[in-house]
Amino acid sequence: MALLVQKFGGTSVGSVERIQAVAQRIAGCREEGHDVVVVVSAMGHTTDELTSLAAAICEEPPQREMDMLLASGEQVSIALLAMALHAMGVSAVSMTGPQVGIMTESTHGRARILDIRTDRVRSRLNDGHVVVVAGFQGTSSGSGGIAEITTLGRGGSDTSAVALAAALGADACEIYTDVPGVLTTDPRKVVDAQLMTTVSCDEMLELASLGASVLHPRAVEIARNYGVPLLVRSSWSDEPGTLLTSRKTRNIGRDGLELGSPVDGVEQLEQQAVLGLSHIPDQPGIAARLFEALSKAEINVDLIIQSTHEGSSNDITFTVHEDELERARTVCDAVLGDLGGALSAEGGMTKLSIRGAGIMGRPGIAANLFNCLSQQGINLRLIATSEVKVSCVIASAMGHKALRAVQEAFDVSDSQVQLNPPLEGENEPEVRGVALDRDQAQLSVCHVPDRPGTAAALCSALADAGISLDAIVQSERQHGDGSRDISFILPKEDRARADVALAPLLAQWPGAALEEGAAIARVSAVGAGMPATAGTAGRMFRALADADINIALIATSEIRTSCLVPENDGIAALQAVHAGFQLGGGERHQAKGSASPLDNG
Ligand code: ASP
Ligand code: MG
Repeated sequence: MALLVQKFGGTSVGSVERIQAVAQRIAGCREEGHDVVVVVSAMGHTTDELTSLAAAICEEPPQREMDMLLASGEQVSIALLAMALHAMGVSAVSMTGPQVGIMTESTHGRARILDIRTDRVRSRLNDGHVVVVAGFQGTSSGSGGIAEITTLGRGGSDTSAVALAAALGADACEIYTDVPGVLTTDPRKVVDAQLMTTVSCDEMLELASLGASVLHPRAVEIARNYGVPLLVRSSWSDEPGTLLTSRKTRNIGRDGLELGSPVDGVEQLEQQAVLGLSHIPDQPGIAARLFEALSKAEINVDLIIQSTHEGSSNDITFTVHEDELERARTVCDAVLGDLGGALSAEGGMTKLSIRGAGIMGRPGIAANLFNCLSQQGINLRLIATSEVKVSCVIASAMGHKALRAVQEAFDVSDSQVQLNPPLEGENEPEVRGVALDRDQAQLSVCHVPDRPGTAAALCSALADAGISLDAIVQSERQHGDGSRDISFILPKEDRARADVALAPLLAQWPGAALEEGAAIARVSAVGAGMPATAGTAGRMFRALADADINIALIATSEIRTSCLVPENDGIAALQAVHAGFQLGGGERHQAKGSASPLDNG
């Protein structure tokens, strides 16, 4: 007998018949002897309809009243589902978020969960009831002792379900939806997208746009942090769906279920070497040629960064283990031989990384890391960012000092530090899925002084304006005055605000200027096996080169390789990479998800 939390989205409870079908499924689960907590969304498009009603009455409705209004949608579905269960002879009780005791922050419209009081749900379960809980809502203590209704943000029922599972220590959380699970890529763009049977929460977070279309990212973060086994499966079939796996990294602490310290680990990898190629031609196929040659020599490359400069030439920087430095240098020399360009190579480097769910989505964390290092007078040779990790390559001599400072800044205990961890992902696929993002922009700040603190200052200025970055790339090349360029990838909608946020800094740096990047799309390949597999990057670049697509920028982290390509090549690039890694699958699950719109609940 297990304790299961099952969540049904808006489409799954969109009509009387569907509510009955859901009740039937739950009844079956009870018959098998399981305890069941059910979380439901509002029926069909209810939340959208309520939002339009509000908009018809007032332009900017007060957030408190919006929450009062929107929370009513879920209250309808819990009551109806509980009735449907009664009608089938299954005893059930519905509960609102406040009744359960889903305690949240007081921020209306996007409150995060602080705590869930499990005693009330448990006592109903012990009485033999199925407990049907309203998703998307909670309660904050409010001012003057009057409890307020809060909502968690659109799509928040997933978050309610996973948080309940974490708090109850449930055996699994099952998200029932109208797609068969998580697919290897977007089936509307690639017809042979295939169902993944498993994916880790880290991979899911790295596949940001792909993952978010199936599950609320906050739900994935909670599952990752507390090790909740999470299953995404179809409401319409008995297919097993996709299992999201995670290692449990923490216990629910006093800081709040969703708020706990964002950084849960620090890693330090010593004996790294950085190789930098600059002034190489900006043409399709160069990155492919270089990384194929490295792969052929069986050199495992870790981080790769490429950016385009002065319109027509590229710099590519990458890291390898120090032991491979000489062999990597020889390979680079041979490739450069027919291309021109310059090579720099230096060992004695250390990679320091902070780890945690949603790091890049929280502006300020990366900035804090850079600030903390610059206060120690440490220069950042290379920066690599991802959804779950930020890494800096620094001189080894600074390693100890850096580690201490970072531990202190992020309150990380010795037991959360890993020194030279073994390569992960031995038996995992090098690429599990591929995602395309088209809502991002590229921006370069040219001629910034090359001294500790510049990256920190830029990131802090953006973070203070609430802008989260997706990648930060420092140029390999130095201008005549020793200055460098730093490029960012950021959400398109924040682009204009970035100008304002950066202006005061630019004024302090003589010669520094902003340069607009061309319109871009980002294609990301993600796989837990990437660190342990040599040649993945080369294969990705080859797939793009064979499709005659030029790469403007490359930014990798351990389990993700992202390339920026011209916006108009985005879909072709996605298809090329998906096919290049043979992710296209059998007929069985072929593009099933494309038949219906994504679950709106
Ligand atoms: N009903 C809410 C929405 O449509 C929450 C949810 O369904 O997850 O956003
Ligand atoms: Mg949803």
